[in-house]
Amino acid sequence: MTKTATKASTNKQQEIQRIISKLSKAVAQHKLKPGQRLVEAQIVEALNANRNHVQSALQRLALQHIVTIEPNRGSFVAQPSAQEAREIFAARRVVERGIIENITQQTIQDNWPKIELHMESEQQVTQGNDRRAIVSTLSHYHKLLAEMCGNTVLKEMFENLMVRSSLIVALYQHNDVPSCQHNEHQDIIDALKEGNQALAAKVMLKHLQHLESELVLDNTQSTATDLVMALKEL
Ligand SMILES: [Zn+2]
Repeated sequence: MTKTATKASTNKQQEIQRIISKLSKAVAQHKLKPGQRLVEAQIVEALNANRNHVQSALQRLALQHIVTIEPNRGSFVAQPSAQEAREIFAARRVVERGIIENITQQTIQDNWPKIELHMESEQQVTQGNDRRAIVSTLSHYHKLLAEMCGNTVLKEMFENLMVRSSLIVALYQHNDVPSCQHNEHQDIIDALKEGNQALAAKVMLKHLQHLESELVLDNTQSTATDLVMALKEL
């Protein structure tokens, strides 16, 4: 490949990645709901992007199970089944345990100002009623641990699981109480600060089980959405 061609290809990849990040973020923040139709022309306009790049981004998101592409119907935000939801939580237990095992006492020391700032904002935000801020701050905690662990493969696996977890919460969490618990987050940090990774991993597993137990994994929600769509098409 010539230099110019290589550069064009790099720019294209960066642009596709930009669209993927924007769409993933919108899903993670519950701005795009499971089952929502993703109209290419609207994405092109909203993100000031090229149509081919949008199509490539949607195809990659489909491979990541964040988007579903249906022949002759278009692209939709994925609606994970109850079975898939259980599998995602099982995978989170493995990956987040791995993340914890990679965080040493030294890592905690090196990142302490960032951790302290985050834990303070968690405490503040959970005392208020801004549900969106609560959900986003609490899920940022898990992201912070993934970033600190220093293993880029675990971090990538975690990022995919986290976006899919947002879809699961939107579909199957029926109560209004934010799922993550600030005190459990604090216990994990305390254990890591003492260099007790085994205890931190144990609390993380309990925390993830706690999150899963708040979901009603019975597929009723996705059936209802399909029904609405089916009726609209009549
Ligand atoms: Zn949490």
